[in-house]
Amino acid sequence: MTIGLSLQHVSHEFGGTPVLHDVNVDVAPGEMVCLLGPSGCGKTTALRLAAGLEKLQTGTVRIHDEVVAAAGQYLEPEKRGVGLVFQDYALFPHLDVARNIGFGLRHYDDARRKQAVIDALKRVGMEDFIHSYPHQLSGGQQQRIALARALAPTPRVMLLDEPFSGLDVARRSELRDTTLHVLKNAGIATVMVTHDPEEAMYMADRIIVMNNGRVMQDGTPEELYFRPANHFVASFFGEVNRFASKVENGVVSTPLGDITVGDVADGTEVDVLVRPEGLRIGQVINGHDIRANVDAVRSLGGVSLMHLSLAAGPHVHARVPRRIFPLKAGQVSITLDPEMTFVFPRG
Ligand code: ATP
Repeated sequence: MTIGLSLQHVSHEFGGTPVLHDVNVDVAPGEMVCLLGPSGCGKTTALRLAAGLEKLQTGTVRIHDEVVAAAGQYLEPEKRGVGLVFQDYALFPHLDVARNIGFGLRHYDDARRKQAVIDALKRVGMEDFIHSYPHQLSGGQQQRIALARALAPTPRVMLLDEPFSGLDVARRSELRDTTLHVLKNAGIATVMVTHDPEEAMYMADRIIVMNNGRVMQDGTPEELYFRPANHFVASFFGEVNRFASKVENGVVSTPLGDITVGDVADGTEVDVLVRPEGLRIGQVINGHDIRANVDAVRSLGGVSLMHLSLAAGPHVHARVPRRIFPLKAGQVSITLDPEMTFVFPRG
């Protein structure tokens, strides 16, 4: 793979407390990779090490084919060709939009700087705001300017840290879309930090899921959702129904039916995880159906969430298309969708 940005075997500690363990991140030019994980898992630290805002302790950072940080080697942030966008816009309040964007282009002559500012503003659809001051702009508009400012010096790599989290839902989805198109068109290697799985799936070509400073899985959104490597990754992408069981004769029994597992030894204690959309709901037809009582149905907009009590005991959730069938039916039958059912050894 051609390298846009590469972190190899990066480990890091603060005051003797390890926060990153042997982290690898590879991003090709034009690729969008999301670092996804819960608060405190080390995402921002990885980003800061890539930018050079934090001194690397162990491992190597490359940008294109150049080593920018390694044992005994350190290139200053401003020489790395990296654009940064953070959650809090960080625009200079006393400078107008043109001067905010032009600030990082002081080494350009006036005509070139003016043109670069206009080009950057056009890319984010903000050319009419060139003389505005930050306090005259909404949060979404300020973040567009922050993106334009990061793009103006034509960086080789873009690093985004929770760039949309301060915005309301409508602004967020609008700006996600603009950001994705702008960065893809520019062919820039991009890493975006987020704790929101939906945002990562919307934006990313690849997602790197982290927990406690370690990479749990690196793959496409599709791979992570349909083939999670472990319990943590499966549950991080949304609610799951969980059943404890044990492998007997290559089969795991659950209240929702039996699951054949090829490669797990008999006697192994397992957790079976089923996404709510992995419960197929139908009308009760014959006596062999696995049945459940419908306790409640809540509309989530495009889909509905059914609260179900199985005859065998546990309470489960099913996510169904909004008008699949008369949802008020007292009893329904359930079958499992194997694509949405995962079996992991416990612990
Ligand atoms: P969040 O989404 O909350 O920002 P994160 O995944 O980005 O979390 P980091 O900010 O990288 O996580 O922090 C990882 C760990 O390192 C945390 O436990 C944090 O408290 C600690 N940490 C981060 N920066 C420093 C620092 N400068 N000094 C000491 N500890 C730090």
